[in-house]
Amino acid sequence: MSENSTFPGEKIASIEEYEAGHNTFDDGDMVRASTIGEIDMNKTTRVASVNHPKLLSIPKAGDVIVGNVAAVMSSMIAVSIDYINGKPTTSKVECVCGTRNLRIRNVALVNDIVTLKIISHINGTIHAAINEPELGILHTKCRKCGGRVVSMRDAIKCTDCSWIDERKLSKNFGKLDFVSLRE
Ligand SMILES: [Zn+2]
Repeated sequence: MSENSTFPGEKIASIEEYEAGHNTFDDGDMVRASTIGEIDMNKTTRVASVNHPKLLSIPKAGDVIVGNVAAVMSSMIAVSIDYINGKPTTSKVECVCGTRNLRIRNVALVNDIVTLKIISHINGTIHAAINEPELGILHTKCRKCGGRVVSMRDAIKCTDCSWIDERKLSKNFGKLDFVSLRE
């Protein structure tokens, strides 16, 4: 929750300055939030709105997400979504990503941090792709000892026990910019 977040009933603006927009109401004096969410003050239209987090938390086709690998199955991984297009989400929506065609031994491990692109929603399941250079693992650990790994072309090597393994790495592997987004 950022300092921009609000709670139902919270004052957002004076009605002399702003009109009540989505998810807000006007109590005759102040514009107040009618839901939790992120305040959106449009300085051009002078409308104050609140973006409900649920509206932001379901990714659409084409969105790029960052999340934690929640489960690894033989032909797919399940990922708990933490960021949608760089914006944090707290709803813990999951998506699945097929990994059968990658021909990589350990595409991902549970708790790896991965970036994926959303392809579709089918029967309530969100499907994502990993097969582009920028998509894949951003952070992982050694499967044997949990140590730090470095990339060597498409493989990774543990700096502690020297175990060599495979992952579907993002070309941004090892750049930990996404961590700063957690603040
Ligand atoms: Zn190791």
